[in-house]
Amino acid sequence: MRVVRVQVGRAGEIVIDGRAVPTAIVKRPVEGPVAIGRLGLEGDERVLRRRHGEEHHAVYAYPEAHYGWWEERLGRTLAPGIFGENLTVDGPLETEARIGDRIACGTALLQVAQPRIPCRKLRHQLGLRSSLDFLATRRVGYYLRVLREGVVQAGDRFEVVERAEGSPTVDTFVRIATEDYWDVVGLRELIAARDLDPTWREDLGDKLARAEAAEGWLGFRELEVVRREAAGEGAVHLWLACPWGRPLGPHRPGQAVGVLVRPVEGSRPMRRRYAITAREGERIRLTVRVAARRSVEEGVGLVSSYVHALEAGGRLAVSAPRGSWTAEALPRGVRRVTVLSAGMGIAPAVPLVRDLREAGLAVRAVHFRPEPGEPPLWDEARALGFEREGDLDVALRERPPGAVYAAGPRGFVASLGERLEVLGHDGAAFVEEVGPGPVPVPAAPPPPSEPPGCDG
Ligand SMILES: Cc1cc2nc3c(=O)[nH]c(=O)nc-3n(C[C@H](O)[C@H](O)[C@H](O)COP(=O)(O)OP(=O)(O)OC[C@H]3O[C@@H](n4cnc5c(N)ncnc54)[C@H](O)[C@@H]3O)c2cc1C
Repeated sequence: MRVVRVQVGRAGEIVIDGRAVPTAIVKRPVEGPVAIGRLGLEGDERVLRRRHGEEHHAVYAYPEAHYGWWEERLGRTLAPGIFGENLTVDGPLETEARIGDRIACGTALLQVAQPRIPCRKLRHQLGLRSSLDFLATRRVGYYLRVLREGVVQAGDRFEVVERAEGSPTVDTFVRIATEDYWDVVGLRELIAARDLDPTWREDLGDKLARAEAAEGWLGFRELEVVRREAAGEGAVHLWLACPWGRPLGPHRPGQAVGVLVRPVEGSRPMRRRYAITAREGERIRLTVRVAARRSVEEGVGLVSSYVHALEAGGRLAVSAPRGSWTAEALPRGVRRVTVLSAGMGIAPAVPLVRDLREAGLAVRAVHFRPEPGEPPLWDEARALGFEREGDLDVALRERPPGAVYAAGPRGFVASLGERLEVLGHDGAAFVEEVGPGPVPVPAAPPPPSEPPGCDG
């Protein structure tokens, strides 16, 4: 492992969106030995000294191995030092370098301090739409702290001489700090990283507090399909779990998660909701039926067919379970409950009925279905004593319904409301429209806009 090139930059200006922006991001290769001081390389100027040039980002190293990848992606040859790096290295990649690793570099001793979190200047240099596009590649390089000053030149060794065992890699650090900020366990590991920059520790502490308050599920989390099973009538059961084995946090039977997908190339992201139909420890099951009509031109039926087609190993962005269609919503003292479902309303109804029964309530469950054939989940519904009814009036009149939970397509839910009114039903009613409808946008802090590692 060695230093391929050494670069320094002078403070100057570049024009971004018509405005002059002060920066020292433009760096030029240097021949011969260069002194590495506590705050960086000799002759390497910085702007924004408040955040830059401090000891935890004194030297920026970027793996030479990524140049070819970027050139292929951007379709052009990149100038040496384009990333604003001081050292272009044939050294550890982000997936190998751990925060706190000690690296012998020339006669200096350096320490991996933090990942590079890009700002608009790097986005501009590379011609990317957003700095987040750079982060998402995880080919971000890393800043180094100077533990012992020395001298470096191209060709010198760049070798890990002491591993920070147990400390997160740069790659893991970027993932958790900028994407998986729900990950309570991961955030704690980042905070415990060896010799971490106190600014990062503070920033991560805030994220941890938010993640803990949200019981480990903030925004959309990427889950993996660990099992796929047929569920009858154009439906599948998808069992989902965290690919990193993290806990999912609590949910109440009857609640639904949100999913966020780009169902076809170039489409806008679309959100839909799916009930959690079963749970085994840290795995949840969704039961997804393909919509009756699919048209790419009209943007109809796209999400269900995309999710339905996911195989084991596929990934899905899923937001935390939400909804008050649960046993907790019942007013005190209510002992009799009627659960009515239609269409895919059966999906939240099955776990809800199971939960209400376990709570000792008298539950009558009716699935409204005038057409022949069995709906998805019918085996489980039948085992729970669901009746099947093609006439809603019969379903409602048979005996006093008590509190009513109803879930189904818009038309079903609307006509049910009218019928309950006609019947003079004055009990509690919980109605969930299980069909196209708005998905609550989950609370999620945006990735840091001016994070501790920003390069200026
Ligand atoms: C709380 C809740 C829980 C849910 N749980 C489940 C569940 O467990 N399982 C499940 O499969 N689904 C569930 N859904 C429904 C799910 O969220 C989606 O609505 C469903 O998968 C269809 O999404 P889609 O994008 O494929 O179809 P959409 O594009 O939303 O269309 C759905 C259907 O509506 C009709 N439609 C929509 N727009 C038009 C139009 N412009 N012209 C004509 N027809 C149109 C079509 O018949 C189409 O097939 C739930 C919904 C909610 C709100």
